[in-house]
Amino acid sequence: MKEVHILGAGMVGISTAIWLQRAGFRVTIIDQVGPAGGASYGNAGVLAAGSIIPITTPALPKNAFGMLMDKASPLFVRWPYLPKMIPFLASYLKHCTTQHVEYYARSMIPLLRDTVAQHQALAEGTGAESFVSEHPYGFGYHRRDAYENDQKWWDLRAQLGIQFDVITGSDYGAIDPLFANQFHTVVLCHQHGRISDPGKYIRTLAQDFVEQGGRLRIGQITDLVHTTDGLGYRVDDQIISPEHLVLSTGAWSRDLVKTVGLTIPFETERGYHIELVHPSQEPVNSMMIASGKFVITPLTDRIRAAGIVEFGGLELGENPEPIELLKTQVKALLPEVTFERIDSWLGHRPAPADSLPLIGQIPTIKNCWLGFGHQHVGLTGGAKTGRILSELIQGRTVDIDMAPFNPARFTKQ
Ligand SMILES: Cc1cc2nc3c(=O)[nH]c(=O)nc-3n(C[C@H](O)[C@H](O)[C@H](O)COP(=O)(O)OP(=O)(O)OC[C@H]3O[C@@H](n4cnc5c(N)ncnc54)[C@H](O)[C@@H]3O)c2cc1C
Repeated sequence: MKEVHILGAGMVGISTAIWLQRAGFRVTIIDQVGPAGGASYGNAGVLAAGSIIPITTPALPKNAFGMLMDKASPLFVRWPYLPKMIPFLASYLKHCTTQHVEYYARSMIPLLRDTVAQHQALAEGTGAESFVSEHPYGFGYHRRDAYENDQKWWDLRAQLGIQFDVITGSDYGAIDPLFANQFHTVVLCHQHGRISDPGKYIRTLAQDFVEQGGRLRIGQITDLVHTTDGLGYRVDDQIISPEHLVLSTGAWSRDLVKTVGLTIPFETERGYHIELVHPSQEPVNSMMIASGKFVITPLTDRIRAAGIVEFGGLELGENPEPIELLKTQVKALLPEVTFERIDSWLGHRPAPADSLPLIGQIPTIKNCWLGFGHQHVGLTGGAKTGRILSELIQGRTVDIDMAPFNPARFTKQ
């Protein structure tokens, strides 16, 4: 029986593990915390099939400084960290072109478009089926000019087959009374979906993986190690050299792959959520609040508001400012909702400077596969990424263009 070890038990790692297990591999997953210990726990739960516009649009360099100075804007930086991210920022900002946005959109659409079907296939027979559902996903614009500024990106989505309706705010109240008269325009995207509790979903998948004979080990991988059998890893001072190794350690991946000579312009895009626990009312659809760059999602027993981008690395704890900003904005949007308490969370989105995930083999190291870097859409694209990795490890070809995701792009720099 072929053997594979998967480092990281987030959305990508768990999906890879389950598809390889189904293909007859003996699979071990190692995680420092346990399943859904990272970003996959606290995201907004949206299966965002049409979220194919990256953060790095041409507007970002024009607006970034003003946004950083404005306490009510959704972009934050922990200033002492700034010097450490200069090489990343230089590369990140270089990608803020219309040409790159179009390249990114065309590259990502095959990975995201069928997300609901991919999650349904992953969950089938595991007990996690009920977490997955198809739902529309709204983008709410408070002001007409904000919608008009985004119009070209909606045109691009339409060209690439994303279906949506543009609804004026007062009409949207008939669909979702909680958001009546909140927005000038709502773009409601069809064939999207939702995971009703991302953390529990992944833990349920992981539990089934273990019940089917998979091995789950808790431990912190300190580095990757070249051995006579290929690439191995070190955990608890023990070097392990499996037949195949998959690295799906999310935002923590950059430093691990450095040990094997890959230098990736990559950062954590820190994000936050707050939850209104046991709310008196819930919205019908998940809604991206375009001005605040956060999503309000009805989850089981909670309303979660998740988003914000903060640069500040992996080590610093929560910053109270983005949490307060989310609280203020949610209060203004949902003034009549009462709830038991508010919980908050900080998570780390894995973000390469070109926003494209790395999926595939490390060049020259044949037993090591990478699956990380899905930034804002890793819940959406993670199920399919795991399936693709499983196919590639079995030596099969996949029916989407994998060139944009090839890790080799970083060996040429
Ligand atoms: C606020 C917020 C909202 C979001 N909303 C959405 C959304 O609505 N839809 C969407 O599609 N995406 C969303 N995302 C993005 C999505 O959550 C991520 O892209 C996705 O979870 C990444 O999955 P992953 O498996 O790559 O990484 P992770 O889930 O972070 O998993 C990595 C795992 O690796 C483990 N690990 C790391 N280093 C080590 C080590 N050295 N040793 C052992 N284990 C290690 C960690 O413990 C972790 O469990 C959001 C993210 C945030 C922060």
